[in-house]
Parts: sequence; structure tokens; C-alpha cells
Amino acid sequence: MLDTPGSAGAAFGEKPRVGPVCHLRTMGTHAVVLGGSMGGLLAARALVGHYERVTVVDRDALPAGADHRKGVPQGKHFHTVLLRGAQALEQMFPGLVDEFVAEGVPRSNFTLEATFVLNGQRMIRTDTGATAIQLTRPMLEGTIRSRVASHPGVKVVDGQEVLEPVFDGRRVTGVRTSAGLLEADLVVDALGRSGRSRKWMAEWGFPVPAEDTIEIDTMYVSRLVRPKVPFRDKLTLVGPIPGRPNGFAYAAQEGDRWMLTVVGMAGDHPPTDEDAFLEFLRRSAPPDVFESIASAEPLTELRAHRFPASLRRRYEQLNRYPEGLLAFGDAVCSFNPIYGQGMTVAAMEAEALRKCLSEGEHDLARRFFRAAAKIIDPVWQLNAGGDLALPEIPGRRPLSTRLVNRYVSRLQKVAGHDPVVATAFVRTIGLLNPPSSMFAPRVLARVLFGRA
Ligand SMILES: Cc1cc2nc3c(=O)[nH]c(=O)nc-3n(C[C@H](O)[C@H](O)[C@H](O)COP(=O)(O)OP(=O)(O)OC[C@H]3O[C@@H](n4cnc5c(N)ncnc54)[C@H](O)[C@@H]3O)c2cc1C
Repeated sequence: MLDTPGSAGAAFGEKPRVGPVCHLRTMGTHAVVLGGSMGGLLAARALVGHYERVTVVDRDALPAGADHRKGVPQGKHFHTVLLRGAQALEQMFPGLVDEFVAEGVPRSNFTLEATFVLNGQRMIRTDTGATAIQLTRPMLEGTIRSRVASHPGVKVVDGQEVLEPVFDGRRVTGVRTSAGLLEADLVVDALGRSGRSRKWMAEWGFPVPAEDTIEIDTMYVSRLVRPKVPFRDKLTLVGPIPGRPNGFAYAAQEGDRWMLTVVGMAGDHPPTDEDAFLEFLRRSAPPDVFESIASAEPLTELRAHRFPASLRRRYEQLNRYPEGLLAFGDAVCSFNPIYGQGMTVAAMEAEALRKCLSEGEHDLARRFFRAAAKIIDPVWQLNAGGDLALPEIPGRRPLSTRLVNRYVSRLQKVAGHDPVVATAFVRTIGLLNPPSSMFAPRVLARVLFGRA
């Protein structure tokens, strides 16, 4: 784990540890974050100490605990926090992982107690030293929300619709909500992928970011279940393969429940009819996993969520920005969810925002969007590479993409028996290491010359 932040982090953890001293510069009196989902909460965490007051506004009635809410429909589906994300969250909220475990959240030795079947190849069980926490999205968000809201400088306001920011011809000076005007020195748009900032910037005469998309036409169908006997592995992940662009996750969660999420890409959508759903799952599930799921007690209905395309907005390419406005999280980039990267990237953006603010407010938007792009670039590359490895997904495949995908496909086969290669892969998809680490000499030699 990384060191924890200094004094500004203390209020966020029950057991604050002393970390590197972080020099805070107070920029202004009030920052307003639009949207109180994971992106908004992590942005608020980054702003604390730099602004005297931070207000987070959401239109939903925010539950006191770990309940589902309308504004985060994806919360009914499998959510994973990648290794890098867990590290960032623990740094921002010291003691978080222990708190989860104390509340019954399963912690698994990521590659010993889990089955990964990627590209049709079951990865070798090996101790990579990585542990993962497995919890429902409402539990994760509810806990982070209460940590953020517990800070004396933060107010989380619910039941208020964000209408639009107030722009005075040069800068944003506040935001209009259904309850009135909130004056602000900084407004952060964390309203999700609907992209409100893009529209507002166009209305104010600013250039708008280009959008990159990958049409993946993906459907999630999920339910919580309770197996008759807890399944051997705390987590089973089976990814799509060419010719069968679907897969599933089956994961132990808090409260003695298991999340089952079946995903189909390129229009190969899982049905929501009970029998047809199981038949669809049978196409990808190893027999023992299928048996556990088919005999499990269903705890919820089957719920579907459609995700048409990955979407990236290139704010970093603009030459002019309205002062006092930033976009954050899914508002900047909404990734194909099957790789589980969105919240980890939001946590990394929060680290970047904090660093940008520690260097002052001058040119903040340009500096932040460039820093965010450096975080997003390799993740988008991993994401697009995975999608375009499936012939069913439309899109241009330059020679470089085809070569990398052939290499990764071979790497996944070698990871079926080689712990060094498996570890390199797990650390890369966990965003602990950059994609280039899959080509480090030690790994490259094993991939090229090892048994596939
Ligand atoms: C099916 C699915 C599965 C996913 N799985 C994973 C995963 O395993 N791991 C992972 O890291 N990420 C996953 N993600 C992505 C993850 O959910 C997002 O990256 C994360 O929620 C951060 O998004 P955000 O906070 O920027 O936006 P959102 O989560 O979309 O939140 C937007 C917020 O804005 C509020 N809002 C919207 N409009 C208004 C308005 N006008 N006024 C006031 N409030 C408003 C909403 O109520 C909501 O709270 C998944 C996404 C989907 C769709």
C-alpha cells in the first residue's frame, strides 16, 4: 500500500496514519461538485483542504446506508475495484479496507482464490501477493459517501437537480440548481457520461472536446444469489472470446450474498427470461460453476443494463477553457465496464486533481485535463485492445493493434501455466503496471518462447 496523505486526510479515516506532508494551498472559499456518485465523491475528497467549503449536489435522495438508488442504475451489477483503485482508496480513506472486512466484505487472495478464464484460457493459480475486496456497489459508494460527508468542510446535498452553471463571460461563478443559486469558485461536473459540460461550453462559445467511441453494444443482466454451499472460489470471471462475445462474473459479496452478472457484447445479449438466461450462461460457464449458480437461491429479480459504447471526451486537446469549470470521472471517459476500470480511473484522477491544486489555480483546467489524459491513455488502450480482439466489435484495426492483440492472446495462453507471465498480466489489468510492462524482457521471452 502507498503512504497515506497528511493532515488533510485525517478526517477521512478512523485510523489515520502519518504520510508524506502535503502542502495545501487554499484557492477559494467554495467548490461545488455536481453529482454525488463515485466520481463526485472522489473529486470532493481531492478538493478538501484546497477550498474552505466543498458542496456535493445530487438529484437523488441519497440513502443513509448501502442501498440502491436510481441515479446509479449500474449499482445492481457486478462492480470490482481494481488493485490500483483499492490502493488509491485506502490512501484517501485510511483504514477503509479493514473497515470493509470488519463489516463482512470478503477479501480474497486475488489469484489463488479466484478463477480467471481469459481468451478461453484458465489462468494458473499463483500467489501474486494481490488481495481484492469484493463488495456491492451500494456498499462501496455508501461507505465512501459517509466518509466524505463526515469531513467538517464538506456538505453533501441531495434531492437537488443541477440545472446549469452560471457563466459571467469569462468564468463560472456558481451553479443553478432546483433549490436556487450556489456561488462557487470552482464547479466540477461529475454528472456521468451524459456530458453536460460539453453542451454548456458550446453554449458559451468555447471549443468542445472531440469524442472517441467504440461501439460495443453490451448488455449486463444480473442478480444476487445465495449458493447452497459457498462456491470454492470467491470470484470467477470468464471473459468473452471470438465467436462467443459473452461471459460472466460470479463473486462472493458482503452479507453472505453472491453477485452473478452475465454480459454479452456486440448485440449477443443475455435474456431476462429465467430459463433462457441459464441456457445463455451455460455457453460460457465451466460445469461446476454452472451447477453452483443453477442450484443457488435467487435473492433478486434479473436486472438488465444496456451500455452502447465506450466514450472518451478529449478535453486535453482544447486550447481554451472556461475558468472555474472541470469535468471529472465518467463525464470525461466512460469505459467498457467489463474491464472494471471506471472507479479506479476516477480515484487516480482525484490524486491528479489534488496534485494540480497543490501547484495553484493558474491554468487549472488545462493542467488537470492533461494529467487526466495521461491516466486515461493506457487504460483506453487496454480497453480498446480487448474490445477489438473480438471480430464481432466494429472498428478499425491498424497493424499495431493486430500485432499487440496477437501478442496478448499468446500471453494469456502462456499465463495458463507460467506464474511470471500471469503476475505481469494481473498487475497490468489491475492498473498497477502500465501496458508496456507486458513487453518487459523477462515477460516477452516467456511469451514468445514459452509453451502456449
Ligand atoms: C454496468 C456497469 C458496470 C460497471 N462496473 C464497474 C466496475 O466493475 N468497476 C469500476 O471501477 N467501474 C465500473 N463501472 C463504471 C462506474 O460505475 C463509474 O465509472 C463510476 O460510477 C464513476 O462515474 P461518475 O461518478 O463519474 O458518474 P455516475 O456514476 O454516472 O454518477 C453521476 C451522478 O450524477 C447524478 N446526476 C445526474 N444528473 C444530475 C442532475 N441533473 N442533477 C443532479 N445530479 C445528477 C446522478 O444521480 C449520479 O449520482 C460500471 C459501469 C456500468 C454502467
